[in-house]
Amino acid sequence: MYPAQFDYHRASSVAQALDLLASKQDAKLLAGGHSLLPMMKLRLAQPANLIDIGGIAELAGIERSGSGVRIGALTTHADLASSDLLKRSCPIVAEAAGKIGDQQVRNRGTIGGNLTHADPGSDLPAVVKALEATLHLVSKKGKRTVKASEFFVDLLTSAVGEGEILTAIEVPALGDGIGSCYLKFEHPASGYAVVGAAAIVRLDRGGKCESARLCFNGVTATPLDAQNVAGALAGKTPDDAAIDQAVNANLVASDPMGDVFASGEYRVHLAKVFGRRALKLARDRAS
Ligand SMILES: Cc1cc2nc3c(=O)[nH]c(=O)nc-3n(C[C@H](O)[C@H](O)[C@H](O)COP(=O)(O)OP(=O)(O)OC[C@H]3O[C@@H](n4cnc5c(N)ncnc54)[C@H](O)[C@@H]3O)c2cc1C
Repeated sequence: MYPAQFDYHRASSVAQALDLLASKQDAKLLAGGHSLLPMMKLRLAQPANLIDIGGIAELAGIERSGSGVRIGALTTHADLASSDLLKRSCPIVAEAAGKIGDQQVRNRGTIGGNLTHADPGSDLPAVVKALEATLHLVSKKGKRTVKASEFFVDLLTSAVGEGEILTAIEVPALGDGIGSCYLKFEHPASGYAVVGAAAIVRLDRGGKCESARLCFNGVTATPLDAQNVAGALAGKTPDDAAIDQAVNANLVASDPMGDVFASGEYRVHLAKVFGRRALKLARDRAS
């Protein structure tokens, strides 16, 4: 399959990419190309202009920032997975990135493209939502930040607007007493998540659950935030029985997705299984 005809432009800076976005009709940014190019080959996307931001060095990299870690939007999944800083400070990002597709996908695909594409089967959306990450955007009008809870608008639709570029994602450093875990039930061919569970558990000194976060990919059109489950665990000793009870009694998904890979009912079942497992591993890692 060949994409429809388009004009190719290569930007060497964010400023140049913004100029191109403003001056070219029907333009799309190209990062790693591992979601956009398949869409173009299937003619599900037919942009007249492609603006390649893949060579903009200022958009890539992982560094400490304040109490967290700032990840450039062009950072590849492979770089996330092998980052010592992330493994130390926010290991769930490295863990999830290491589970994306295969080595070739991880070498080309970027966190910015993954989040902006907002595919419910992608791995990183639930992770940044569980982390309550902050996303940094820039346009000709200026800069703005969007919370991860507001970034995923609908199926394949993110908060990135016309003329905007996602520049960075800021995640918190998870300190002592906080454990995290990302698990997924993956499609055997593509590696995409049929369901993925991102769990974060914070324990107090007595071993009780101070707070928890549990978010899912693959269950609903945008990442599902299981706040009821987290609420049910708060203040309790999160032993296996408490986690099983919190998930079984409180995990609800209105309008779960169903498709050729899995029915909505099966996805909710998987979410309960993987949600319990992820919370238990996060708890063990917090202790
Ligand atoms: C065989 C295969 C298996 C895969 N398996 C998985 C998997 O298991 N898990 C998973 O999560 N993903 C998987 N993916 C998707 C992969 O992770 C993609 O690379 C990623 O989702 C998109 O990142 P990209 O850099 O390739 O973005 P692109 O394809 O270049 O762009 C995707 C979209 O985001 C926009 N965009 C990109 N960067 C920016 C930016 N900085 N600011 C604003 N808009 C931007 C583009 O305009 C486009 O609309 C798979 C892909 C393939 C081909």
